Amino acid sequence: MLRVEGVRKSFGDHVVLDGIDLTVGRGEVVCLIGASGSGKSTLLRCIDLLELTDDGDIFLGDLELTDPAIDENAARARIAFVFQAFNLFPHLSVLQNLVLGPRRVKGVSRSQATRRAHELLARVGLDAKAAAYPDSLSGGQQQRVALARAMAMDPELLLLDEVTSALDPLLVAEVLDVVRELKDEGRTIVMATHEMDFARECADRIVFLAEGRIVESGPPEQLFTAPRDPRTAAFLARHS
Ligand code: ATP
Ligand code: MG
Repeated sequence: MLRVEGVRKSFGDHVVLDGIDLTVGRGEVVCLIGASGSGKSTLLRCIDLLELTDDGDIFLGDLELTDPAIDENAARARIAFVFQAFNLFPHLSVLQNLVLGPRRVKGVSRSQATRRAHELLARVGLDAKAAAYPDSLSGGQQQRVALARAMAMDPELLLLDEVTSALDPLLVAEVLDVVRELKDEGRTIVMATHEMDFARECADRIVFLAEGRIVESGPPEQLFTAPRDPRTAAFLARHS
C-alpha cells in the first residue's frame, strides 16, 4: 500500500536520505528507529509531501505521491500526520478540531461529521471535553485528541512522528494506548519513535536508520534480540 523506492533528499550538501526503499502493507505497523538526525522525520515528511524528494518514487496504492503534477490536497486527504506537539488548532474547540477537516476536505455534512467526532472522542476517552479548548487540556489529552482528529479523516495511512516525546512521562502511556488501539483496528501506521518498549511490543516491523540509510529491518523479536548489523546492536545497547 505504501512503496518508497530509492528516495534521496539533501539539504544543501548534507545528504539526509540516501536511497530509502521501504514497503508497508495494509494494516502493518512499522516503527522507524535511529539516532537523532538519522532522517526519520525527513522520511515521514517526504511521504506527506511536506518535503520534496530529490530522487526516487513514493506510491500510496496506485497514486504516485512524487509525481510533480500531483494534487497535494487530494493526496493529503488519504494520509494523516501527527507530530510531537502543537497539532491542534488553538482557536477551535476539541469538537471543532475534529469536524473541520472532514467538512472542508471531504465534504461530509455537519451532522455526520459531528456524530463521528463524538464517537472518536469517546474512543479516546475525551467526549466530555468536546466543548473545551486545547489549551485547557493536558499534553496527553491533546495528543489523544490529535489522534482522534487524524482518524476523523479516515486516512489510509497514519504517520506518527514522536507523538509522545513532548509529554510528561506519566502521560506517555495513555497516548500509546490509543496508538495500540489503532493498530488493533487494522490501521496502517508508520511511526518514528524513541519508545523502544512500545516499538518492540506493538510494531510488526522495525526499521533502523543511520545516516539516511536503512541499515536493517525486521520483526521486533529478531531485531531486538539478534540484530545483524553492529550499528543496530550499538544503538539498541544505548537505548535499552
Ligand atoms: P530526531 O530523532 O532528532 O527527530 P530524525 O531522525 O527525525 O531525528 P531528521 O529530522 O529527519 O532526523 O533530520 C535529519 C537531518 O536533516 C538532520 O541533520 C537535520 O539537521 C537535517 N534537516 C532536517 N530538516 C532540515 C531542513 N529543513 N533544513 C536543513 N537541514 C535539515
Ligand atoms: Mg525526528
